[in-house]
Amino acid sequence: LLTVRGLNKTFDVGRGKLRALDAIDLDLRRGETLGLVGESGCGKSTLARTLMMLERPDSGTVAFDGIDPFALRGKDLLAWRRRVQMVFQDPYGSLNSRMTAGDIIGEPWRTHKGLYKTRRDRSARVRELLHLVGLRPSDENRFPQEFSGGQRQRLGIARALALNPDVIICDEPVSALDLSVQAQVLNLLNDLQKQLGISYVFISHDLSVVRHVADRVAVMYLGRIVESGATEAVFERPSHPYTAALMSAAP
Ligand code: ATP
Ligand code: MG
Repeated sequence: LLTVRGLNKTFDVGRGKLRALDAIDLDLRRGETLGLVGESGCGKSTLARTLMMLERPDSGTVAFDGIDPFALRGKDLLAWRRRVQMVFQDPYGSLNSRMTAGDIIGEPWRTHKGLYKTRRDRSARVRELLHLVGLRPSDENRFPQEFSGGQRQRLGIARALALNPDVIICDEPVSALDLSVQAQVLNLLNDLQKQLGISYVFISHDLSVVRHVADRVAVMYLGRIVESGATEAVFERPSHPYTAALMSAAP
């Protein structure tokens, strides 16, 4: 579904350059969850932002069903943008507190016009999405600050689903939540994957969460992917010293 080869990205910082992404290779298969782990600052979010086309790489290729999104313009680019969406860590910061849940979910339709023609269609779809993520249709008119942390994350997921994406990049989606609420949100993501066939790139510093949700994992260290493979194989027989150290440092 998604193939990344030789991706490089540097940032200008003060005196010199910082290699945020260093020759990244990555494959995401349809319907799978790819875990992305590594210590703070190793480049996980930068990679996610590049896959979302929020950052332009210095070199390397991204192919999505064989298409290079960075070569697209106009309508084609807009159509592509629908296919990859993101869910963020902070269920407080990433939702506009002055918008109702319904407006938040429907916001992507302002850019991607024509998906739902009438106000009535849009409202019906909002209610359907609320139901899909385990919220109530009547929550449409509530504001984010009236929701609990777990409910806000459900709202963020509903917004990510509004454009029927193929891929959702989850950047620390449950890190801000209590353990029991984490489990609920992870179950929701899993259910949505089964129902809708969505593929996830799942970024987390919590190895037990990644082990639980990911089909395969990629381990990042200083901008490079030092190891990748089937989740159990990587966890049980890490081949790179950094992976081994990461695993042994985990609680
Ligand atoms: P965390 O687990 O803390 O979220 P991360 O793995 O997501 O970390 P990134 O946010 O991708 O890390 O950052 C990778 C490196 O790139 C860091 O050293 C960061 O300081 C740097 N960086 C990220 N964005 C920029 C930017 N816009 N300008 C300059 N440096 C940046
Ligand atoms: Mg990050």
